[in-house]
Amino acid sequence: MNREFWIEEFLAGLRAEHAERRTSVYPGSGGKLRLDGREVLNFSCNDYLGLSKHSRVVSAAKRALDEFGAGATASRLVTGTLPLHEELEQRVAHFKGYPAALLFGSGFLTNSGIIPSVVGRDDTVLADKLVHASLIDAVTLSRATLLRFRHNDVRHLEELLAKKSAGRRLVVTESVFSMDGDLAPLPEIAAAAARHGAMLMVDEAHATGVFGPCGGGLVRQHGLESSVNLSMGTLSKAAGSYGGFVACSVPMRELLVNRARALIYTTALPPSVVASSIAALEILQASPEMGSELLKRADGFRSRLKDAGLDTLQSASQIVPIVVGENSKALALAERLRAAGILAVAIRPPTVPQGSARLRLSITLEHSKSDLARAAGLIIAAAKEEGVL
Ligand SMILES: *Cc1c(COP(=O)(O)O)cnc(C)c1O
Repeated sequence: MNREFWIEEFLAGLRAEHAERRTSVYPGSGGKLRLDGREVLNFSCNDYLGLSKHSRVVSAAKRALDEFGAGATASRLVTGTLPLHEELEQRVAHFKGYPAALLFGSGFLTNSGIIPSVVGRDDTVLADKLVHASLIDAVTLSRATLLRFRHNDVRHLEELLAKKSAGRRLVVTESVFSMDGDLAPLPEIAAAAARHGAMLMVDEAHATGVFGPCGGGLVRQHGLESSVNLSMGTLSKAAGSYGGFVACSVPMRELLVNRARALIYTTALPPSVVASSIAALEILQASPEMGSELLKRADGFRSRLKDAGLDTLQSASQIVPIVVGENSKALALAERLRAAGILAVAIRPPTVPQGSARLRLSITLEHSKSDLARAAGLIIAAAKEEGVL
């Protein structure tokens, strides 16, 4: 008897809806690639500042490999905490303007670790409708009740907060939304949470390195460090490396060290990866203009697309969506662009809401102004040919 028959049925259903996913192989990473024998502009990577290949980032990793070897060889609470881990945590805390910080294996693990540590069965999480899947999974893991407020709608959040509830409450949002590229109204959200005595967590995965002083993020830009209890981020996007973190108070860090299963029951980050992240933070500190330069280039690019009539939603960051609607249309547009030397992977439900399939373009500092002008022209032409415009 074939016990896997149901898998074929499941996959056939996905194919029928143009919703099947796969792992495609690319010959390299970063904002520019050689693909099919020519240079391609890659708008589907998160190496926003091009730091993944920065010589200082790479050489820091090499030195750490030579000194400490390939792995941390134990979890953080056993013997996996090296001086490098502690140094990076101190630098992250300073970078984010918080008293303390804690590293995790990835951004996904950070969210999985944090939320079940601060809320449980009798508590409530109030999350923006569009928050990242890792946050939703973390709430499920916590067994807390999940309430969703309409995207960036503080009045709806207020309504939900006004209802009585017995346990602790945690408001969760992103500062730069990963698939729409728009910004949360953080000061208003922070005020609402404070007024109703709810804790606040902000996912700064896409703001870190780009917004705020030296790339310290939007929480810092708005001076909300004392209102945001948990400011999480990742080292795998603008920092060009790998690993996640949360910046928080000293007691919060202690709580997480004692409770976060995604920290306790997994091996510490490899020393070379940690060393890369330290170098990336040093570069951010030494070149505080990188984020604003990136945002300026993204602005110019987005204006061209908008002026041509493309729907870029409320994007105000280095993430520029082009909403197409149907899955098949998004796939066809991506295919047409790839043939023109533009790599922009189609993003489909369930990553984005039904009927809002899109190309999600990430602008990076590897994309020059002339690259972006040329790409905008090619995108507009392809959108016309595909009937999107
Ligand atoms: C990418 C991302 C994460 C996960 O970070 P990783 O380090 O890649 O695991 C978490 N939250 C948001 C909003 C993200 O975009």
